[in-house]
Amino acid sequence: MENILDFTKEDLCHWLEDKGIRPFRAGQIFKWLYIRQADAFEQMTDLSKELRRTLADHFYIRRLILDKTLVSCDGTEKFLLKLEDMQYIEAVLIPEKDHFTLCVSSQVGCAQNCRFCLTAQGGFIRNLEVCEIIAQIRDARYYLIRKGVDPLKLSNIVFMGMGEPLANYKNLVKALKIITDSDYGLKFSDRRVTVSTSGLVPEITQLGLDTGVNLAVSLNATCDETRTRLMPVNKKYPLKRLLEACRTFNMKPRNKITFEYILIKGVNDTGKDALRLVKLLTPVKSKVNLIPFNEHVKSDFKRPSKKEISDFLQILLDRDLTAITRKSKGDDILAACGQLKAKLIP
Ligand code: SAH
Repeated sequence: MENILDFTKEDLCHWLEDKGIRPFRAGQIFKWLYIRQADAFEQMTDLSKELRRTLADHFYIRRLILDKTLVSCDGTEKFLLKLEDMQYIEAVLIPEKDHFTLCVSSQVGCAQNCRFCLTAQGGFIRNLEVCEIIAQIRDARYYLIRKGVDPLKLSNIVFMGMGEPLANYKNLVKALKIITDSDYGLKFSDRRVTVSTSGLVPEITQLGLDTGVNLAVSLNATCDETRTRLMPVNKKYPLKRLLEACRTFNMKPRNKITFEYILIKGVNDTGKDALRLVKLLTPVKSKVNLIPFNEHVKSDFKRPSKKEISDFLQILLDRDLTAITRKSKGDDILAACGQLKAKLIP
């Protein structure tokens, strides 16, 4: 038995053709799965009884087990999701002005070992399957339906949950195909999907060639010494190589790469850092998201003061970088950037 959420529409067409079934049925099946949110093949009443039986003999349709939902006072909701092997991941549903953004996980744990990140503490357990990435999104839309909210209001996806998406490259790209399937799939516009990486250079380049989604890079430092201290991945792919891959990243003319920069008191928050950041990013089509460090028990790092943060931002703006300070949402339920770590919850 295979999980049908592992299949792109193309895969499903091939599977059907192999069985001598007309491939356009794949579109109907996708519509049932992703738009009508069917839980069983019997519900797919515009397919013949025989086809429904064939499908049920080969595939299963399953949701992730929603173990807990935590609701923040700002409306952000964190889902603790149980996988078939009893591992846990988290997804975060963030209400924006007129839509929702879902922050999804790509791995159980993470191997990047970034010093500031809570997910790193538990080490790496495994990659998520395509179906586990897809189910986070499909289930979040189902959750909205049950709350009486239009599921298409969930229009934006960010791969900024647990894990390093580019370290799970094959499954990521396959999942992105299903996410952006415009006919009958989840129908996300690729302009509204963002993959965030700690900076895996070869996969960054490949992502630009394979997909049209947005790229975000967690930069977090302006010199190799500090960056390597914060993010061991920098040893393998130092700033020069990383920024060159960004400068040549294949994207649509008006697109920009988002550079995430956590501001940590006394580590990377000086005026000198801000000026170096300007110098590094001027050759790249970029926008900067400053993220004040979210403090947590497993780290001695501190967040700079409001004044230090706004001074840093001002230096960037004065030199014509596009930059914002990201408002932290959901930090009261440990749902903010870098706070996701399922083990804390059960
Ligand atoms: N592995 C990917 C995606 C997950 S991390 C990546 O590195 O981009 C998502 C974002 O959260 C990253 O930009 C990371 O730098 C940030 N982050 C991690 N821990 C944080 C913390 N304690 N406070 C603020 N941001 C944090």
